[in-house]
Amino acid sequence: MIRCPVCMSRDIYRVAGGYIGEIHRCKRCGYVGAFVIEEAGPGPGDQHDTDA
Ligand SMILES: [Zn+2]
Repeated sequence: MIRCPVCMSRDIYRVAGGYIGEIHRCKRCGYVGAFVIEEAGPGPGDQHDTDA
């Protein structure tokens, strides 16, 4: 899951990729750029030391 770094919306999608790098566009605020906030979803890697 990715988020827009400007408005934090998740309504953002990739518009280009390859040698130039990945470009994303936000539907909400119109941000276009390579930088996005990558948000790790629940699953492996989300564990904490609860039973240590
Ligand atoms: Zn945005």
